[in-house]
Amino acid sequence: MHAPGGTFLIDTAPELRLQLLREKIPLVHAVIYTHAHADHLFGLDDLRLFGHVLGKPVPLYCEENVEAQILASYAYAFAPPGEPLHPGALPLLTLERIGTEPFELLGQTVQPIRLIHGRLPVLGFRFGNVAFCTDVSLIPDESWPLLEGLDVLVLDCLREYPHATHFGLPQSLAVVERVRPKQTYFTHVSHHLDYDATNAKLPPGVALAYDGLRIEVAG
Ligand SMILES: [Zn+2]
Ligand SMILES: [Zn+2]
Repeated sequence: MHAPGGTFLIDTAPELRLQLLREKIPLVHAVIYTHAHADHLFGLDDLRLFGHVLGKPVPLYCEENVEAQILASYAYAFAPPGEPLHPGALPLLTLERIGTEPFELLGQTVQPIRLIHGRLPVLGFRFGNVAFCTDVSLIPDESWPLLEGLDVLVLDCLREYPHATHFGLPQSLAVVERVRPKQTYFTHVSHHLDYDATNAKLPPGVALAYDGLRIEVAG
């Protein structure tokens, strides 16, 4: 996301380097994490040079369980065995704990949204009238008010039928029906959903997201 004070990412996907090159994003100032599953975390080392370019660590905003997973998976980055031999030898990162309280990041207000992903509590995020809710199979009662009045909702939709940890098409459409965003994009879409055939049968204002999709965030 391009915020007034810099660029931050939601998660660090394994293909992060390819995504940044494709989108021509030369610098990342911060990351906010939804959760620590491998498909959302394992591109973290691609942040390696940004801290050195910025002259300060790149903050990773995450919940306690995500922090523990990052420390376990990337121990070398946080507990280096002695002085590195050269400046880019290790990523320059800090961990910033978040919960469900809103916080300011690079001039943008970030409102975390509690979501349930199978049995795992994870976070979605709202920025102004745009919300990003991936990896969700249940929206708890307290989170529904945070999804009111949306211009754009980006929502998990894995396939036609339900999954233990993700919404399927009927659940995702039920969320759209209840929340009524002006526009919804389904994300985390698997190969089970053909792009054109699925888009053709989705209701107005609902479409599958795609790589490189850009969304304007106001406020
Ligand atoms: Zn996940
Ligand atoms: Zn995932």
